[in-house]
Amino acid sequence: MKSKYAVVNFNDEIERLKRELSNTRYALIKMAPESYHRLLLGDYSLDSNQAVFDWERSAADKIIDSVEFVVDDKDYEPRPRAACPLCREITAMWDPARPLGWTESGLHDHLTGYRGRTQCRVMKAATESNREAANIRALANNRSPK
Ligand SMILES: [Zn+2]
Repeated sequence: MKSKYAVVNFNDEIERLKRELSNTRYALIKMAPESYHRLLLGDYSLDSNQAVFDWERSAADKIIDSVEFVVDDKDYEPRPRAACPLCREITAMWDPARPLGWTESGLHDHLTGYRGRTQCRVMKAATESNREAANIRALANNRSPK
């Protein structure tokens, strides 16, 4: 049976999907509050995977520093918490009926995907966008993006 999607040229389709992914990442970043756009759109000096990794950790710290954590009465063990300022996600913890914000370390893990957490989609879009740009810079300088 023929596919209803006629792929005329595989390479053209890959290029089209890469452009679409890039546009989607950009749109996702732009949906975060404007005060984070410059930070998320990155640093034009990034030219290696290690530099992108370091940028991501530094950006997560700056984002955390910008957030006001407040104690929520619904918390079993009251600790300062906040929603992610980029995607507005909060954690359901163990009780979905009582969703709570992230603690500072929880927000760090959310922003970086550390400790096996699913990474914040907005931060992931920014990191991958910066990684793609860094790889292009490294290749332009005739070296592998280590
Ligand atoms: Zn988030």
